[in-house]
Amino acid sequence: CGIVGYIGKRDVAPLLLEGLQRLEYRGYDSAGIAIQGKPAKGAQSAGLKTAKAKGRVRDLEARLPKRFAGTTGIAHTRWATHGAPNDVNAHPHQDADGKVAVVHNGIIDNAADLRAKLAADGVELVSDTDSEALAHLIGRSQAPTLEEKVRHALAMVEGTYGIAVLHADFPDRIVVARNGSPVVLGIGEKEMFVASDVAALVSHTRQVVTLDDGEMATLKADDYRTYTTEGSRTSTSPTTVEWEA
Ligand code: GLU
Repeated sequence: CGIVGYIGKRDVAPLLLEGLQRLEYRGYDSAGIAIQGKPAKGAQSAGLKTAKAKGRVRDLEARLPKRFAGTTGIAHTRWATHGAPNDVNAHPHQDADGKVAVVHNGIIDNAADLRAKLAADGVELVSDTDSEALAHLIGRSQAPTLEEKVRHALAMVEGTYGIAVLHADFPDRIVVARNGSPVVLGIGEKEMFVASDVAALVSHTRQVVTLDDGEMATLKADDYRTYTTEGSRTSTSPTTVEWEA
């Protein structure tokens, strides 16, 4: 239902919770958040941390671990289509190694088929959602870059999606994609936002890029680029949204 993401220098959890609250008007049954943990000095990555809860954004907030520091993260409010509203079915979903975190809006039509194939390959699916398949497909891709891993996964998917993806081995970026479910980038000063709805962005930036269907983007703190799901660059310059606060 709702997606928010941030990469920059600020403490990410409060920013994401605020963004989720701005999307609450759309309705939802559960919420969750994934962040790139703060790496120890010299280390490249500290891995991903997640928290999820059935219920309201404040229920999620109450459940966040004490140490939940990071400056890159994604968050979701879910409106269940596949699987009951509960903690496990809440997004983000992760692959078996816990290296990938995905939030997904929309419906994957061939989810039953993808889940059966993954199960046949020995993958243990922990949720009842269509979305979890995406996390495993990305995690199992042998492609060298996160962008290609996501592209490979999406090539197997039929249905609608707006997604945002974190990967512990690629802590400097968020990869997003859109097909039939809105994804808007918010361009800041040495920080980038993503959301399914400008309402979650406008308190931070009025410079936005709206993805088209079949388009993906890579967000880094000081840079973004957009390209098609086939990998060719698309040219997008931000537009300014008018918004009555
Ligand atoms: N189909 C997904 C699910 O049921 C995503 C629903 C949504 O857009 O919130 O988990």
